[in-house]
Amino acid sequence: MARTQLQHAKSGKITAAMRRVAERENRKPEFVRKQVADGQAVIPNNNAHESLDPMIIGKEFSTKVNANIGNSDTTSTLQGELQKLHTAVHYGADTVMDLSTGDDLDEIREANVEHSPVPIGTVPIYEAIKQAESPADITHELLLDIIEKQAEQGVDYMTIHAGVLMEHLPLTDGRKTGIVSRGGSILAQWIEENGMQNPLYTKFEEICDIFAEHDVTFSLGDGFRPGCLADASDEAQFAELETLGELTRTAWEHGVQVMVEGPGHVPMDEIEDNVERQQEVCDGAPFYVLGPLVTDVAPGYDHITSAIGATEAARAGAAMLCYVTPKEHLGLPDKDDVRDGLAAYRIAAHAADVATGLPGARDWDDALSEARYEFDWRRQFELALDSERAQAYHDQTLPGDNYKDARFCSMCGVEFCSMRIDQDARNADGEMSAIDDETDLSVSVAADVNLPPVGTHDTSRIPEKIEIDGVTFTPESHADD
Ligand code: SF4
Repeated sequence: MARTQLQHAKSGKITAAMRRVAERENRKPEFVRKQVADGQAVIPNNNAHESLDPMIIGKEFSTKVNANIGNSDTTSTLQGELQKLHTAVHYGADTVMDLSTGDDLDEIREANVEHSPVPIGTVPIYEAIKQAESPADITHELLLDIIEKQAEQGVDYMTIHAGVLMEHLPLTDGRKTGIVSRGGSILAQWIEENGMQNPLYTKFEEICDIFAEHDVTFSLGDGFRPGCLADASDEAQFAELETLGELTRTAWEHGVQVMVEGPGHVPMDEIEDNVERQQEVCDGAPFYVLGPLVTDVAPGYDHITSAIGATEAARAGAAMLCYVTPKEHLGLPDKDDVRDGLAAYRIAAHAADVATGLPGARDWDDALSEARYEFDWRRQFELALDSERAQAYHDQTLPGDNYKDARFCSMCGVEFCSMRIDQDARNADGEMSAIDDETDLSVSVAADVNLPPVGTHDTSRIPEKIEIDGVTFTPESHADD
């Protein structure tokens, strides 16, 4: 009996979730079904997640953004986590990962699933380590029990680091920052101390059976993702990717939906190759990337360093972007960090959708630009990616209602507002009318005033030499510098 969206799609059935997704994406239901059937897109939709509004992740659809929330040993409460969930959804997260590693894990996870209209993802190995206390003590049974429990709780997708293989661990020797994925480092320690193969790999088919039962989607974790530019695109990363390709096909055979996680930290010029390689090795399964950060030098601003990489990755074919907040590498993000990280990533996702020509993506930009040129400030705020911030920044200096249709703002001021000047310079039809087809520019005044400026094109007026404090400068002396 078909239980998963993939199984239904393969049997030719268009489910209610597929119809809803088609409506949200303005695509035909049959197109959605075919994309899911071919493994090119996933609809993370645990059968027990009743509050979910289904969404789709795939390169043929709008680029999605994930926000990570979760408590840690040192901070946060259930109320705080629900507040973060609310903030994440409010500011546009398409999915939310609960990465809690502190107390009350079940309570927080169940509350998140109950209240979330977007898919909830988890990393079950985090709970396993909480229960076992040390990585080496995690048993195969414990892992499977936790995965099954979380599936029953309604988790829509889980990061499973099944590609971290024993034989590939030595490939990480000599890296500048070793293994930086939390799941990857825990499994590496488990393998080293127990002298056995990764239990998530050896038990992969049993995990597939659990996922098929509840329709949980795999997010195949990249345990060897590079943690700095120097480690990007190395042997360890690509060896794991080959394993992820193999696991993708195994999951599909079990009727389970799959997306594949990717780096990390990657120089800008290597991002496109990384995406193309994943698409080839994993037969087009949706690529879900963390950033990537394109430089390592800006802690405190890594929502920006990574949003640059995320834009490039999405342009090259990544389907979902995991946001990074300004606190990356520094601390647990709070509500404001979640907001800033999401804004950066929604910009990245949308910029990529515009660049790839996703049908309808540019309409948003054009509508906002029209409102801007018409000085329709209220409409501009309404259309802004972060309406509240746009209005707050405007109203900081010009708060009154009378400024909501003003033909300027405080950036250039009344006198220098270029859009106002531009409009005043045009005729009633919005045209510049100083010249027409009859104007002969060679005899017009314009020909005189448009002489090349001295010192740039017109070198005849540059003196042969200049003396400053007894030192003589000539064109040659500059050339010698
Ligand atoms: S004052 Fe400057 S920034 Fe403000 S609306 Fe005019 S052109 Fe735009």
